Amino acid sequence: MSVFSERPRWAGLTDVGKVRSANEDAFVVEPPLFAVADGLGGHQAGEVASEVATDALLDAAPKRADAVALGRAVISANRAVIKAARDGRGRSGMGTTMTAVMTQGTRLAVAHVGDSRAYLLHEGVLSRITEDHSLVAEMIRGGEITERESRFHPMRSVITRALGSDARLEVDAFDVQAEQGDRLLLCTDGLHGMLDDDRIQAVLASLTDPGEAARTLIDAANDAGGQDNITVVVVDLAEGEPDARRPSRRMRATLAMLAWVVAALAVVGAGAWGAYAYAQSRAFIAEEGGRVVLYRGLPGEFAGITLHWKVEETDIPVASLRPNDASRVRGGWAVDDIDAGRALLDKYRRDLGGAPESFPATTTQ
Ligand code: MN
Repeated sequence: MSVFSERPRWAGLTDVGKVRSANEDAFVVEPPLFAVADGLGGHQAGEVASEVATDALLDAAPKRADAVALGRAVISANRAVIKAARDGRGRSGMGTTMTAVMTQGTRLAVAHVGDSRAYLLHEGVLSRITEDHSLVAEMIRGGEITERESRFHPMRSVITRALGSDARLEVDAFDVQAEQGDRLLLCTDGLHGMLDDDRIQAVLASLTDPGEAARTLIDAANDAGGQDNITVVVVDLAEGEPDARRPSRRMRATLAMLAWVVAALAVVGAGAWGAYAYAQSRAFIAEEGGRVVLYRGLPGEFAGITLHWKVEETDIPVASLRPNDASRVRGGWAVDDIDAGRALLDKYRRDLGGAPESFPATTTQ
């Protein structure tokens, strides 16, 4: 399914790929707003998540390219996904990535969560303007694996931030100043997981028409295996007044059944999502630099992979806790959930401030 502008300046295209039975991606092309969303959760919940999120983004998006306001729109999209799960639409644990850009001539406001990407092609050279929030991206940054190895890593689909999992979602929001003639690409991992950046650059640099470029990228991702849903938005940037918001041209791929399904790949994806979703529901308190820190996820590591994300650093010295609590915290103390963890932190703060006689030697501030 596709939408093309009449003056060809932008194009949006999504494809189910060659392996999945349904398309859980969604995209928005409503100039000056452009976005892609990659739904996660399986059993059609991912489809609900990406649709709810893009609907909410459209409702909440600012009129002009303002990164802070766009970031806030992504946060309301997050709330909408959490609420939809609570109301029985989709299912709990569903989530979605979101990479949104508002253009104002060549100025871009970007808001981003997850492992979908925004790229900019400038004078034939492609660069990424978003950072993946994924386990393999963290492993690459930590020097544990290479970019190439990440493509085949069993945990490649585990993302460390998604809409739908945490009301206090952190959104990357920033401005980018592009130049006349630059080309913006938004895509889900069904594209960048199948094609390396050099391939993507070669296509974007060689085809003038955005629609043709988008089509060629999708075809190339399918030729490379099409292991996931593929979504591509290509926008040619030009100086001048921003386009007026037009009637909605947001499109969603319809559920498309393929004659053959490589189930094993879907199972890998579902297993990774399951591990991620389970870890997201857990929390623990640990020590870092002598202070108490709250984490979401599971302590320790499994086969070299960590599944935890720091939620809150505190000034509470571990040494100020009751000896029992202190030793549990030092070992990574699992609590029921984030709320239980926060309640415990509050209690420790109260103990610190309110009852110094209990621990006279350890209060620091
Ligand atoms: Mn995907």
